[in-house]
Amino acid sequence: MSFTLPELPYPKDALEPYISSKTLEFHHGKHHNTYVVNLNNLIQDTDLAGESLENIITKTSGVPSKSGIFNNAAQVWNHSFYWNSMKSGGGGRPTGAIADEIKQHFGSYEQFAEQFKKAGLTQFGSGWAWLVLNKGRLEVMKTPNADTPLAHGLKPILTMDVWEHAYYLDYQNRRPDYIDAFINNLINWEFASSQLE
Ligand code: MN
Repeated sequence: MSFTLPELPYPKDALEPYISSKTLEFHHGKHHNTYVVNLNNLIQDTDLAGESLENIITKTSGVPSKSGIFNNAAQVWNHSFYWNSMKSGGGGRPTGAIADEIKQHFGSYEQFAEQFKKAGLTQFGSGWAWLVLNKGRLEVMKTPNADTPLAHGLKPILTMDVWEHAYYLDYQNRRPDYIDAFINNLINWEFASSQLE
C-alpha cells in the first residue's frame, strides 16, 4: 500500500487570476507529487509502511534519523490541506459559525487578517501560516519548512503556503501581494468551518 497524489478539489484554472493554472500545474503536479513519491520510497519495507499519514508524521517528528520521512510526509499532508483551504470566489469576511469564533478570539476579522498576514510575511524563508485550534482557542501561527501543527498536538483549521514555489511564477518576490490575494480572494471559509466541528 502506498500514498497517492490527491486530485485538486477544483480545476487547475479555478483560482485565476490570483493563482495561475501554471503555478498549480507545477505546485500540485510536480512539487506535491514529488513529496508523495519520495515518501513512498522512504517508507517502503520499513515499520512505517501501512501506517496512516498522520501517524507517520507524529511518529517521526523530532527524530533526527527520520527527518527525511517527516519532511516528505508533512509536506504531503500540508499541501492537501492547503488546496482545500482555497476556493474560487473565496476570501474576505467569513460567515456562519467561524465568523463568531474569529470575532471572539481575535476581536475582529480585521485583527485576524492582520495577524495571519504578519505570520506569512515574517516566516523567514520557506514555511506555512496557519489558523489552528489550541485547546479550544483559535490562534494564528507559522511553521518553518515542512513543520506542521499536527506534530505539536494542534488542530489545523486553515493554511497558507509561503514557500516561494507557491507564488513565484505569479508574483515573483512579492510575497505580500500573494498573501493579500489569499486573504481577500481565496480563503475557503466553508472548509475552515468544517474543520471546527
Ligand atoms: Mn508548496
